[in-house]
Amino acid sequence: MGIVQNRLDVLNELQQHLQDQNHEVKLIAVSKTFPVQDIRTLYVAGQRDFGENYIQEWQQKDKQLQDCSDLIWHIIGNIQSNKSRPVAERAHWVHTVDRLKLAQRLNEQRPDALPALNVCIEINIADEDAKHGIAPQQMMALAQEVLKMPRLRLRGLMCVAKDTDDTALLRQQFMQMQDLFKQLKSIAPEVDTLSMGMSGDWRIAVDCGATHVRIGSAIFGKRDYA
Ligand SMILES: *Cc1c(COP(=O)(O)O)cnc(C)c1O
Repeated sequence: MGIVQNRLDVLNELQQHLQDQNHEVKLIAVSKTFPVQDIRTLYVAGQRDFGENYIQEWQQKDKQLQDCSDLIWHIIGNIQSNKSRPVAERAHWVHTVDRLKLAQRLNEQRPDALPALNVCIEINIADEDAKHGIAPQQMMALAQEVLKMPRLRLRGLMCVAKDTDDTALLRQQFMQMQDLFKQLKSIAPEVDTLSMGMSGDWRIAVDCGATHVRIGSAIFGKRDYA
């Protein structure tokens, strides 16, 4: 009971804080590795947007949560091309489009009966080999292609900043994202999403214009990957 109350308190605090910003910021609760029951608890408390990284884990949760009909799934992990179909068929958002082939597959596989799939292009802003995402210089070319795809709706950009306590460096990376977002808006004025900021760096991200923050451990506690 203590844990549940604590999570709800953190959730409320975060939502309050995000509401007090001078632009709208949506909270995505990142539930990877946490059980369905934890998602349900937050759902009952009014949280609707949830983020998952691992496709198989997400599919199982999705099945068990079918009664939560207005739950919004954000896929925020790397998607292998051969895993794109379930995502196209069941997700509401994909934040991690980082190559043309993945975009093409999602566009082909998105059922006609559903609205276009909301997508963000993932930028490798930290410029680390281990991170996914495309180089900033390649963003515009990929965006031009995605904009032509009728079953995808390009919403904006996403990044994972460097895992560091260096706030100046974090701010620099998030500001670079804001610049890229402006560039993208110059060819696609309808884009409205800058998905950046996690448990450790969301305050800086919001300062730099984030419209969606993806927060896991600050709400659910430490993850156990085993
Ligand atoms: C796990 C994850 C998050 C949440 O990270 P926390 O530090 O637990 O808040 C956000 N974004 C992505 C892409 C993730 O993989």
